[in-house]
Amino acid sequence: MSGLTGKLWPSHPKPQQDELLSSWLSRVALSNAPRAHTFCHLVWPNKQIWTRDIDLCGDEALITSLSQHTATSLDKARSTKLEVFEGIVFEKLIQNGRTRWIMPTGVFHRERTRFGLQWCPLCFQSDDVSYFRKHWRFAFVSCCPRHGVILADRCHNCGSPVLPFNRGPNICHLCGIDLRDYPVVIGESVALQFEYCLIKRAYDGHTCLAPYEPIYPIAYFDIIRRLVQLIAFSNHAQQLREIIARRYGGDPSPPVYDPDRHDIEFIPPKDRHKLMGLVARILPGWPFRLIGVCSEAEVWSSQILKDMKPVRYHLWEPTKQYLSGIALPRRTGNKNI
Ligand SMILES: [Zn+2]
Ligand SMILES: [Zn+2]
Repeated sequence: MSGLTGKLWPSHPKPQQDELLSSWLSRVALSNAPRAHTFCHLVWPNKQIWTRDIDLCGDEALITSLSQHTATSLDKARSTKLEVFEGIVFEKLIQNGRTRWIMPTGVFHRERTRFGLQWCPLCFQSDDVSYFRKHWRFAFVSCCPRHGVILADRCHNCGSPVLPFNRGPNICHLCGIDLRDYPVVIGESVALQFEYCLIKRAYDGHTCLAPYEPIYPIAYFDIIRRLVQLIAFSNHAQQLREIIARRYGGDPSPPVYDPDRHDIEFIPPKDRHKLMGLVARILPGWPFRLIGVCSEAEVWSSQILKDMKPVRYHLWEPTKQYLSGIALPRRTGNKNI
């Protein structure tokens, strides 16, 4: 590994289209050394890399070094960072904490306790070299926009989260099975279309929520997240899901989630997929489908906006106007009510 001191490393793969920093760094390291840890320790002896979520905390020095030693332009190297979505999908990428919409990997030393690194087995199969895409780290992405299948988030043999820096991107670090063989499940068309639009919006920043257009993308993404949370975790969640499914279709079955973690980022892909399909169905004709569904379930603005920070105008205005909490009298048998 003496070649690591030269201007170019012996092997210097470039980032693939939409590749995630951790994926690129894993490929660079494993193509130059038998172990990614060894490579990174030799090149950056004082830097914590695999004991962190490097997609959240990869700094400019690391990016510059990667850029120089792989003959990759600095812009291209920087494009592998999730920071490129700041101000669009979320306000600020939080290095040592949770960021809205970013799936957590649960870093524990060199292990991972959460399933935040998703992949499409068919993309892996069709890649010349399998690699992880940036958009697979988003919680609003539960399926592949190219192949229409639900994303994988854990080894189908041993159930472990994936650690691409151990044995490469498509090999389970624990049991050694090929992750390209993950059994595929076809997604549902409404959720697929919706997620495709969200991915597009995350990359080009153009969002609208009729009839209020345009809307800042960050406000749009916040509103979508609030709607998902409402139908996943609120006291009326089951009722809301059933009303949406009865009126507009979709699967109202309850999502599986950690009872201590009421956030979409902790829900497995197949359950997020159902929730995204239901939210997609209340957006057309905004806000009147939402108003109708919430009225029927007697869910009022105070519940919809509860603890929402910041409150987004395009959700606040219609819910205040139409769902201000004046409930219709219940039928009690007393005709005077
Ligand atoms: Zn795919
Ligand atoms: Zn495994």
